[in-house]
Amino acid sequence: MTIFIAEVIVDVAAYPVDRSFDYLVPEEMVSLIELGSRVKVQFGPRNVLGFVVALKQDTEVPLEKIKPISQLLDIEPVLTSEMLQLAKWLKHETICYEIDALQVMLPSALRAKYEKIITLQTDIENLPDALKPFFSQSSKVNYKEFEKNNLLHTLKMALKEKVVVLENVVKQKGQVKEVRKVQINDELEKLIALSKGISNRAKKQKVLIEWMMQHVGETLEPDTLYHETNTSPQVLQAVIELGAAKFVHEEVYRDPFSKEVGKTNFLNLTDEQSLALQKITSSMRDKRTETFLLHGITGSGKTEVYLQAIAKCLEDGKEAIVLVPEISLTPQMTERFRSRFGELVAVMHSGLSVGEKYDEWRKVHQGKVKVVVGARSAIFAPFENVGIIILDEEHESTYKQEDNPRYHARDVAIWRGKYHNCPVVLGSATPSLESYARAKKNVYSLLTLKERAMKQALPTVQIVDLREELKKGNRSMFSQELIESIESRINKKEQTVLFLNRRGYSSFVLCRDCGTVLQCQNCDISLTYHRSNEKCKCHYCGYEEFVPKFCPQCQSEHIRFFGTGTQKVEEELYKLFPHARVLRMDVDTTKTKGSHEQILEAFGEGKADILLGTQMIAKGLDYPNITLVGVLSADTSLHLPDFRSAEKTFQLLTQVSGRAGRHEKKGEVVIQTYTPEHYAIELSKAQHYEPFYEREMLMRHLAGYPPYYYLALVQISHEDVMMAAEYAQKCVEWLRSNLSFNVSIIGPTAAGISRLQNRYRYQCLIKYKIEPDLIPTLMQLIKLYRSQWIKNGILLSIDLDPTMI
Ligand code: ADP
Ligand code: ZN
Ligand code: ZN
Repeated sequence: MTIFIAEVIVDVAAYPVDRSFDYLVPEEMVSLIELGSRVKVQFGPRNVLGFVVALKQDTEVPLEKIKPISQLLDIEPVLTSEMLQLAKWLKHETICYEIDALQVMLPSALRAKYEKIITLQTDIENLPDALKPFFSQSSKVNYKEFEKNNLLHTLKMALKEKVVVLENVVKQKGQVKEVRKVQINDELEKLIALSKGISNRAKKQKVLIEWMMQHVGETLEPDTLYHETNTSPQVLQAVIELGAAKFVHEEVYRDPFSKEVGKTNFLNLTDEQSLALQKITSSMRDKRTETFLLHGITGSGKTEVYLQAIAKCLEDGKEAIVLVPEISLTPQMTERFRSRFGELVAVMHSGLSVGEKYDEWRKVHQGKVKVVVGARSAIFAPFENVGIIILDEEHESTYKQEDNPRYHARDVAIWRGKYHNCPVVLGSATPSLESYARAKKNVYSLLTLKERAMKQALPTVQIVDLREELKKGNRSMFSQELIESIESRINKKEQTVLFLNRRGYSSFVLCRDCGTVLQCQNCDISLTYHRSNEKCKCHYCGYEEFVPKFCPQCQSEHIRFFGTGTQKVEEELYKLFPHARVLRMDVDTTKTKGSHEQILEAFGEGKADILLGTQMIAKGLDYPNITLVGVLSADTSLHLPDFRSAEKTFQLLTQVSGRAGRHEKKGEVVIQTYTPEHYAIELSKAQHYEPFYEREMLMRHLAGYPPYYYLALVQISHEDVMMAAEYAQKCVEWLRSNLSFNVSIIGPTAAGISRLQNRYRYQCLIKYKIEPDLIPTLMQLIKLYRSQWIKNGILLSIDLDPTMI
């Protein structure tokens, strides 16, 4: 007798174990179980979820000890073998538990509580008699019902004959949705015979059957039928009992799109666009594993290049994955894909309900769609024949997941590109320094679009020094220049976008007279203001001080923390322009589903003169009547305690400016700032990426930051502050004695958010250029932590290549 053993990775959240366990595959599952199937297994006293990662015929575990798999949850495995390999890579690359890597690839519906549902596949008549009563009311019945009635054997036979199927449905939320339809008998002779047999008293039945004779074999909604024949449900029931038709249940997908879109045609590409497209498609044709960096200024038509590359990919019978940052996943953006590829597109983002997400995922899993447009996690779309992967706005930090597994979608994209031998296209107007540096070294192939697609000029950018405004006695948030520009738009009936730069959680302390921002004494980093104790703090080294009464530079008393809410700006706008129509878009006004969409739509239809918002409005806006973009305070993101703050500021200013004058009318941008001399602001004026890149690379080189050095962040937390500090120290000492001298270890310091959910957090930063032993050493640290520290309530996390420190 052959035995079958499955290696299962189990999901035990409280006390994670990071290896697979052997389980016996019971005989009735042998023909059904596959790699990537989800199962339920006994683990200790509990029944837990697990994933089958290998199948084999022997085991080291003594046979009398091995437990059988309790349940098989999927007839079709949810994970492909590619995903199983990817999980192993992710585990190593991000130092996480394999179970976390497996879970992150699935929609939450498949991780959540689910129930097993048996669905009737055919006519109820074909069922064994014992099962019939269960399906008389509905075509879906909970598995438990059969279990209770000792009908499992009968059910299993029915499963084998495919008269029923078994599937997992998310509890409450995300049930598979179905509609009931009427399927007319497909034998005309039978219908004719029936109609002849009907007595004159049942006139309506005769009418209905005669109508059905014109629609042999069709499936339609009952309502259509009542309407067409002027009959009622009772009449339909009667003819169904005669056998003229039957009820069938059709699975439907929830539609996450609120409205229909039209079709759009391919545009004639500009020379630059054609060249880019041609390089991408020839790479696709030769099945080269090539990563492109498509560097194109705002409005240069990168999206059109993506669309045409995808069209080629579909012609080859392959699938495409397109990632866009969450906040730019606007209806405008998804419509551009849907209007080209229609029903072939699935959309995945966090605005969907659990059920909608599950439906979109199933469309991919079942091969019903060929293109996925989605945010970060869509990179795990379970396509099996990928032809192209695109990351739009590749510099966005939202592509990095901030909790376990801390993967970067860009790295996963490149991994999948290698797996499928297909190109990966990274697109941006302001590439990340890392990617641009790689392109310069020919690790990536650089494609450049220097002109706007419709040859529109870039907007003119004016930088306003707010210190000068203050000297003139203007203490408001609006400079004279900006006020005049807005006024002229209102008069010309053109539109203005006002951008309030508020990124991150922190605010800084600024002197409004001389522009000085309080800096740490030991690092080149702005101090962060903490309202709770009126202190400002360095998030890198832990240095802190009270907010001074007078500016250390000019002794002015106008020194205080900086940070303005959109609501306050709105009030001031109404004072300045009492007749202007203002739309505000921020976290408060976009809480309800679809509100984001409604605000943008209203603005696009010209229902407001001014759109005021946070970074939410920085992306994707493409309306012809926007001719002015105002940035209220360019400085906010400049003084974040982050070595990437200059890069982020430059990116943001370029992005926002790109919203103006995208069509016929020329655009203008007004940037207000207290530090006009900062290179990130000065260089954003000309919107030339290259000079900024050179300058910023120099800074990174001097300071020893990426892309010259790599970073790894180790965080330790505990409910008790002393314990956290003690173990952070221990951790640093351990690292110092286990890593080579090529590595510098900074810390321990208090983390940026020093207390979170009642845990005190410390961190240390590892900077290195080449350290082949880093990953193995960190793995060892994890081992030490799992075997000893965790018992004492310590939590340790490792973030390789952190986006924010
Ligand atoms: P990007 O993604 O680079 O910011 P878009 O793809 O949004 O640029 O293109 C900007 C505008 O130019 C859009 O309105 C788009 O429809 C239009 N466009 C793009 N390519 C062409 C082209 N080849 N001919 C005419 N219009 C184009
Ligand atoms: Zn410091
Ligand atoms: Zn000052």
